[in-house]
Amino acid sequence: MTWEIVVGLETHAQLATRSKMFSGAATAFGAPPNAQACAVDVALPGVLPVANRAAVEMAVKFGLAVGARIHRRSVFARKNYFYPDLPKGYQISQYELPIVQGGVLAIQAGDGEKTIRLTRAHLEEDAGKSLHEDFHGMTGIDLNRAGTPLLEIVSEPELRGAKDAVAYARALHALVRWIGICDGNMQEGSFRCDANVSVRRTGDTRLGTRCEIKNLNSFRFMEQAIEFEARRQIDLLEDGGAVVQQTRLFDPERGETRAMRTKEEAHDYRYFPDPDLLPLVVAEADVEGIRASLPELPEARRQRFAAMGLGAQDARALVGARELADYFEACVAAAGAGQAKLCANWIIGELAGALNRAGLDIARSPVPAPGLAALLARVSDGTLSGKMAKEVFDAMWAGEGAADEIIARRGLRQISDAGALEKIVDDVLAKNARQVEDYRAGKDKAFNSLVGQVMKATQGKANPAQVNEILKARLAR
Ligand code: ADP
Ligand code: MG
Repeated sequence: MTWEIVVGLETHAQLATRSKMFSGAATAFGAPPNAQACAVDVALPGVLPVANRAAVEMAVKFGLAVGARIHRRSVFARKNYFYPDLPKGYQISQYELPIVQGGVLAIQAGDGEKTIRLTRAHLEEDAGKSLHEDFHGMTGIDLNRAGTPLLEIVSEPELRGAKDAVAYARALHALVRWIGICDGNMQEGSFRCDANVSVRRTGDTRLGTRCEIKNLNSFRFMEQAIEFEARRQIDLLEDGGAVVQQTRLFDPERGETRAMRTKEEAHDYRYFPDPDLLPLVVAEADVEGIRASLPELPEARRQRFAAMGLGAQDARALVGARELADYFEACVAAAGAGQAKLCANWIIGELAGALNRAGLDIARSPVPAPGLAALLARVSDGTLSGKMAKEVFDAMWAGEGAADEIIARRGLRQISDAGALEKIVDDVLAKNARQVEDYRAGKDKAFNSLVGQVMKATQGKANPAQVNEILKARLAR
């Protein structure tokens, strides 16, 4: 018997507005507790909420970016529950009529592509935070986060396992940052996912009973949590048991999910339209204005990059962030269209590695795109071997100047003069009669050793491709 894993994700993206969803208090992260909680956020009697226009515009922007339907009229509803960090006793959300309905997101699935449908995206406010650590025998309440605007993005249960779910979350994370509606900072909780997981026997068309794993704020935890949870459910079913619908928490230290509470149903929340807020009406002209302001989207850009001759993986990697895609385009613009593949290789390889090690964003790369293009020009004109180019790159990274300066200063010029190389090769062959014999006797390893000798004789400056050619011609057996 084989099993199929089914996952649907609910993602909370904190919208990058300066003020809150229904009040004028600031949303900046890291302020002292309760310094950014106004009368509306702490739910003093008599206050009224006012919807934040910027948050609404961001929701529309998202909807347009995923090709969803924008409901010109949507409704805010009260979701009622008690918790100390929710002073009103309800969260303002959208229920029956969300602002965004449908839409799709393309994700990478193995070597191929997959399109995941979205159910909806709705506006809501965040709750505050309960602080358990700094208070002995008590709980502290910080309402700075209360009322922060969130876009909750819900996928259809079309993800087939942990890898799919992570690919989806990554694509969504890249998209919300790309269109500038969320900073994507997962450590600060600006982008967090709940994963609904169920399993069924392969071939079954009905969905199994699901468990919902709350608040996954790293891709690695998401993968671990889903894998653990699916395994747990499969073991349970194979032992003749049944899955109980539950809300669960992932414990990263133990790598397992644990029951938090039995799952509540929608009717438990007593949803009803918030009488303090008018229905949210968005003008057609505003929707069209936002549509016109959208940047070229990752998917379109990915296709354009692929058409430049890049491999599918590279094209996808380069649209992982808008700054990265911009860097690539600036590099190609400076290096010439014929160099797209070389640029991609270096950006995804050498540059990304160096940025990663230094913990830097590409926007703050010590080697800007035109600088890298100038280096790559010396690779494609044969001045530098790949190895030399890496040395020059490291020097550029360390701030030693432009590629050509470093090349001149270090005398890093590849020997590509055929006559000169032939002389050196002949010299090496004369001094290494033994290896020549070995090679002719069928020991291919001897060839590499001869290449090594030539490189040594030239302090590594011989053009390796040419050395190979000349050696092959000389040793033809
Ligand atoms: P709720 O808001 O109560 O969590 P929804 O019905 O809105 O419930 O579903 C939320 C998420 O759960 C969606 O992403 C949906 O795709 C997913 N989902 C629903 N049923 C299943 C299931 N049987 N297995 C996996 N995911 C599911
Ligand atoms: Mg849910």
